[in-house]
Amino acid sequence: MTDGPGAADSNGSLRLLLIGPPGAGKGTQAARLSEAYGIPAVSTGDIFRENVKEGTELGVKAKEYMDAGHYVPDSLTNELVRDRLSQPDVADGFLLDGYPRTLQQVEELDDILGVNAASLDAVVVLTADTDEVVQRLLKRSAEQGRSDDTDEVIRRRLDVYAEQTAPLIDVYAQRGLLIEVDGLGAIDEVTGRIIAALASR
Ligand code: AMP
Repeated sequence: MTDGPGAADSNGSLRLLLIGPPGAGKGTQAARLSEAYGIPAVSTGDIFRENVKEGTELGVKAKEYMDAGHYVPDSLTNELVRDRLSQPDVADGFLLDGYPRTLQQVEELDDILGVNAASLDAVVVLTADTDEVVQRLLKRSAEQGRSDDTDEVIRRRLDVYAEQTAPLIDVYAQRGLLIEVDGLGAIDEVTGRIIAALASR
């Protein structure tokens, strides 16, 4: 890694989004960035999976969509994020991993953050070639047995990403917040690239 993050503003707060297709390594990088910058990583996918495991009402609803490779409806997802971002630990910064994923979620996040998009510092997009992400996800399926990492569901998740989430890249580019980073390569290398890109903003 590099000498220091160097991307936080004067009061140390840093609000980042991490976007990328399934299998691009968002979860892995989110954990590392969270540590490097001392900010909580909030992953909607992880929160949904915990709820599924605990059998909560939200989990029961979410599971149906997740297992089919579809997005959980915006209404459920937005409510969850609004609640999570109202907690004190994220008052001084956060890294959102896997949210927003639809244009409606972008609007909701703007609203949650006080209608002021400037309160986000950067949006990191991890790019990855489709064949590579399919291979990674199949490998993860063998290792972790995630119910949404089967061949058919992986293809659907990639299609859903292309249709519903890829358009967000333009939105954040227009706001001058976009940082695109190649997600291929060793984990450390990718983390280094993200930190360097954030530091040179
Ligand atoms: P992830 O771990 O980020 O790949 O998320 C796993 C699954 O959780 C996704 O395929 C969706 O079904 C659901 N999910 C996670 N985040 C969102 C979101 N922001 N909007 C809708 N569904 C989501």
